[in-house]
Amino acid sequence: MHVAVIGGGASGVFFAICLKELDSFADVTIFEASNKLLSKVELSGGGRCNCTNTFENVKRLSDVYPRGANMMKSLFKQFSPKDTAAWFENHGVKLKKQNDGRVFPLSQDSHTVINCFLSLLKRYNVKTEYSHRVTSIEELHGFDCVIVSVGGYPNTELNNSLANLGHGVIKPLPSLFAFELGADALRNLSGISVNGAELLIPATKFRAKGDLLLTHWGISGPLCLKLSSYAAPYLSEKSYKSPLIINWTGKNYNQCEEMLKDCFDSNQQKLISNINPFALPNSLWRYIIEKSLKERAKNKISSLNLKDVNRLLNNLCSDEYNIVGKAPNKDEFVTCGGLSLQSLDRETLESKFVSNLYFTGEALDIDGITGGFNLQAAWTTAFVAARSVYKKYLG
Ligand SMILES: Cc1cc2nc3c(=O)[nH]c(=O)nc-3n(C[C@H](O)[C@H](O)[C@H](O)COP(=O)(O)OP(=O)(O)OC[C@H]3O[C@@H](n4cnc5c(N)ncnc54)[C@H](O)[C@@H]3O)c2cc1C
Repeated sequence: MHVAVIGGGASGVFFAICLKELDSFADVTIFEASNKLLSKVELSGGGRCNCTNTFENVKRLSDVYPRGANMMKSLFKQFSPKDTAAWFENHGVKLKKQNDGRVFPLSQDSHTVINCFLSLLKRYNVKTEYSHRVTSIEELHGFDCVIVSVGGYPNTELNNSLANLGHGVIKPLPSLFAFELGADALRNLSGISVNGAELLIPATKFRAKGDLLLTHWGISGPLCLKLSSYAAPYLSEKSYKSPLIINWTGKNYNQCEEMLKDCFDSNQQKLISNINPFALPNSLWRYIIEKSLKERAKNKISSLNLKDVNRLLNNLCSDEYNIVGKAPNKDEFVTCGGLSLQSLDRETLESKFVSNLYFTGEALDIDGITGGFNLQAAWTTAFVAARSVYKKYLG
């Protein structure tokens, strides 16, 4: 049984290891376009490798997998995040769970994961052909079984070859990016983070809550990346230009109004600049009151009229900006789109058009927000593909 894996990244390498652990006689060769395995794993989580998530804070899978949630739900029955954590621990990679649900190696070093994988590849005699970019499946006709684990784009030639064989390929687009805003005023606040804010794109369903980071070009941080993921196809269609509303408080207008009025009622003789009812960073509170009240931001609360309060509320809950472009995000980026899930058997990840052809990882039209969800998708799809191959040919 000769198995070819195209791509030596997270899912390709994990597939090879899982298959060899199911059947040590399988002959596995990884074809890797670059001269190195697991490059993204090395960079992942800022070098710490956010390898999975506890999912304890996840209400709906579609909140963390904007594309592929249903498929992930069904695949988790075969290899869940808990199975992943157990796999790592059983293979000597101790893990540390953070309160926010993210899971890292205890060493806080992606090399712990890489060294574990590389030593297993060696022990199991998995062959690797470096600097070998596969451009069509037909190239690998000598193999009994082929696994496409090529990650995100660009992979035009291979995608074209898959499309020619009948597969649906959804246009690959970037996800998890920061927003460039046409807002010079915010530049002075660069470096500030705002916890529990909300972003929404007017006249769409795209909205998200979380922690926001102000940068010198616009906004970033987990909240911005989450919205970029939810709205990735929409924003691409709009050439990354769109109105954007920032709700700095994360609360709805009525809650916000009530809190502001309560605070104002009990602090009438205080300067507006000396209160901070929503515990925002002080410089942000100053920016919002100056934007709303101009010179009178220096006054006492008792001097405010109803119009002032309404302007303040609008700027707190519904501050309007324009996204003028997408900015690079160094921490993590993934591809939205890829092989259509309709082209696959949902239980085995085998192609519906070419037998003995399987897909794993980011090559599929599955992608997640930040937090360990993308690597989890890589591990789960790789395990499922390995078990499917094992059951079909070897078991
Ligand atoms: C900077 C960065 C940080 C990240 N941090 C995290 C994180 O902390 N947590 C998380 O969950 N996710 C993170 N991700 C996302 C995660 O790394 C990917 O989702 C995951 O690696 C996908 O695994 P994969 O096997 O599908 O693809 P990859 O790991 O990208 O591997 C694909 C491999 O295929 C090779 N290849 C491509 N085309 C061909 C071809 N035609 N022939 C041969 N070889 C080919 C590539 O060279 C590559 O080695 C991060 C991504 C980036 C870029």
